[in-house]
Amino acid sequence: MEIKKIMVVGAGQMGSGIAQVAAQSGLQVLLNDMKPEFIDKGMAGIAKNLGRALEKGKISADQQQAALASISPSTRLADAASVDLVIEAATENMDIKAQIFRALDEAAGPGVILATNTSSLPITEVAAFTRRPELVIGMHFMNPVPVMPLVEVIRGIATSDETYTRVRALSLAMGKTPVEVNDFPGFVSNRVLMPMINEAIYCIYEGVATAESIDQVMKLGMNHPMGPLTLADFIGLDTCLAIMEVLHEGFGDSKYRPCPLLRKMVKAGWLGRKSGKGFYDYA
Ligand code: NAD
Repeated sequence: MEIKKIMVVGAGQMGSGIAQVAAQSGLQVLLNDMKPEFIDKGMAGIAKNLGRALEKGKISADQQQAALASISPSTRLADAASVDLVIEAATENMDIKAQIFRALDEAAGPGVILATNTSSLPITEVAAFTRRPELVIGMHFMNPVPVMPLVEVIRGIATSDETYTRVRALSLAMGKTPVEVNDFPGFVSNRVLMPMINEAIYCIYEGVATAESIDQVMKLGMNHPMGPLTLADFIGLDTCLAIMEVLHEGFGDSKYRPCPLLRKMVKAGWLGRKSGKGFYDYA
């Protein structure tokens, strides 16, 4: 089955980025979220990004229009009946993913691959919510999706070679570089990145330094393009906490315990850029 039309579930920062890149690579895209206003917000982000790309001369006006025209809204997971592949990019929470994957499995045609953009949840567990575990796979894009070249492609225990091969080819067709990884908590990207971010938060919590100083040390001293706390705000502090919880529970090792300050900020609704406040202010 040739992949011509896909559904992206979740129109947040990742889902809208994936939808944009898919549309720009010539795919038809259904962008799904729970409410029309969430999809409108995602579409506004895509329109802004494409507008910027046009201004910089990276795309033509025709390409901008074609990409926008390729994306249609959907508020029903049952619409998965009309697509060749689904990429789920909803909130990082296993109960939410369980509900979505059960519904997608009901709706999607036989042979349709159900991919998840989860940052850390076990692909094998997500696959077990369906009757097609051989067709479930991790397709972990990086943020911002239009800019970052990597897709971590994660095989669950039952993922078939054919599913892997097709998803690898799709990643290449979307202009990305797929890297194969096995299904362990945090995969490679977040197993290495997130404990560093958590440790940077401990440095504030213990009064070692301010957010600005910590970010400066990592930028100027380690040549990181962005400090870990700026990056945490960019990723979303709720997502960072969810990933630390997965590492902590998945390995049962106290070295992964989430910093209490991270928990407190998430409880306060300080989620980083997306809420206007995190380690920095974005008002
Ligand atoms: P986000 O909060 O920006 O967006 C999540 C979207 O999912 C929201 O629009 C929400 O309304 C929607 N949603 C929730 N439940 C839904 C349902 N039942 N049906 C349809 N839509 C639903 O979050 P995000 O940063 O875009 O993260 C999405 C996924 O991508 C998560 O699994 C996250 O771990 C992963 N991810 C995030 C990053 C990052 O840097 N933020 C990077 C890689 C992967």
